[in-house]
Amino acid sequence: MKLYNSATHRKEEFVPHVPGKVSMYTCGPTVYHFAHIGNLRSYIMEDILEKYLRYIGYEVTRVMNITDVGHLSSDADTGEDKMLKGAQREHKSVMEIAQFYTDAFFADCEKLRIRRPEIVQPATGMIDAYIRVISRLLETGYAYQAGGNVYYDTSKLERYYIFNEHDEEDLAVGVREGVDADENKRNKTDFVLWFTKSKFEDQALKWDSPWGVGYPGWHIECSCICIHYLGEYLDIHCGGIDNAFPHHTNEIAQSEAYLGHPWCKYWMHVHHLNTQNGKMSKSSGEFLTVSLLEEKGFDPLVYRFFCLQSHYRKGLTFSWENLENARAAYDKLVARIASLDTDGAPDDPEAAPYEEAFRQPLGNDLNTSLAITRLYDVLKSELGGAAKRALIAQFDQVLGLDLLEKAARKQAEQAQVSVTASAGYTVTGEGDPEVDALVLQRAEAKKAKNFAEADRIRDLLKGQGIEVSDVPGGAVWRRV
Ligand SMILES: [Zn+2]
Repeated sequence: MKLYNSATHRKEEFVPHVPGKVSMYTCGPTVYHFAHIGNLRSYIMEDILEKYLRYIGYEVTRVMNITDVGHLSSDADTGEDKMLKGAQREHKSVMEIAQFYTDAFFADCEKLRIRRPEIVQPATGMIDAYIRVISRLLETGYAYQAGGNVYYDTSKLERYYIFNEHDEEDLAVGVREGVDADENKRNKTDFVLWFTKSKFEDQALKWDSPWGVGYPGWHIECSCICIHYLGEYLDIHCGGIDNAFPHHTNEIAQSEAYLGHPWCKYWMHVHHLNTQNGKMSKSSGEFLTVSLLEEKGFDPLVYRFFCLQSHYRKGLTFSWENLENARAAYDKLVARIASLDTDGAPDDPEAAPYEEAFRQPLGNDLNTSLAITRLYDVLKSELGGAAKRALIAQFDQVLGLDLLEKAARKQAEQAQVSVTASAGYTVTGEGDPEVDALVLQRAEAKKAKNFAEADRIRDLLKGQGIEVSDVPGGAVWRRV
């Protein structure tokens, strides 16, 4: 397949380090709050990449970290500690917060059909590895101690910026956020590997180290967790585009200095989800979560479908109206699948070109919207219903939209409608013949002008939460 590599700024043919196998690393969430749907867009698109690689026959091993220590509110080592802030906000311990939001994150992932990686590693579980790697970086001169902390010396690198050419202005993160620059740093781009002189007196989690009691910086966890589980050569590292700098840039600096050779070959970055007011974030505007989508009556898979309708390297604008449109399209798609007949054989040889037509756009840097168009082409085709269903089942291994399951549920709901007719009077209900019979009795009582009996039955049904509406030629009932 062809994949756009942010490190080389072009689409490249994907060739894994070991034939047939793919090692894949994803930066996981910082578990101090719910994930917003902008973060989840990245995880959805990474999930598509993983599923596509499996679909075309690769064996994929995927690792994700969980950041439960060391991530400050500015990615450049300034600002408040996110975990500490979360714990204070909710009057809980840092570990309680971490557990709660880790569970919440995976619950959201499940609702969005994002596969859980084989290996999920909380940052606090790998302290020994950080100490080992930092020690080596100190020995080899890539790191230095200053003011009690250990820093990475970015001036030791031939090339620091991998993803883009930043100028000095962009680096003045501290200045931009009104936080004092760290006087200990030799170069503006240096970053903390280990904090001992923390400005957070009440930092909850601290560990012993050769440099004093303290805690790791944010970036070191990903390098160490990744190398520990996936070895010295990584095929694909993914994440949101806002992690490219400084986080991924620093991961490369650490990993390659430690290993002494190139580390990750392909970098996949998913672009922002925007609102009409700009980039979505937890701190500005409406805090959009999967739970909020559900509260507003949206199936989380409608959001997945919405994300798949655009390319992962383009910004996507979220609005309730756009999501409403996605819902209409998704419901219509499910209804079309539900109405397919069962004609023909599932393994029709005529189906092969349709499968190829689906595979091709995904293999070209994950063009998901074109892949969905190819799904509609199947529905429009001359193939029999059985072959169409078989293709949809295959495509959905990548798309993860539960299309056949939803269609089956829709059919079942439709089949549950009960119809009881008597003397030209038709009762349509939600699948309970006893209720149908009562509604019919009421109609007969009315016809016989026995209004007391008709009212008694109506009240009886009302007591069971059933609403009856008279329609031409009969009645329709539903539970309210
Ligand atoms: Zn990371």
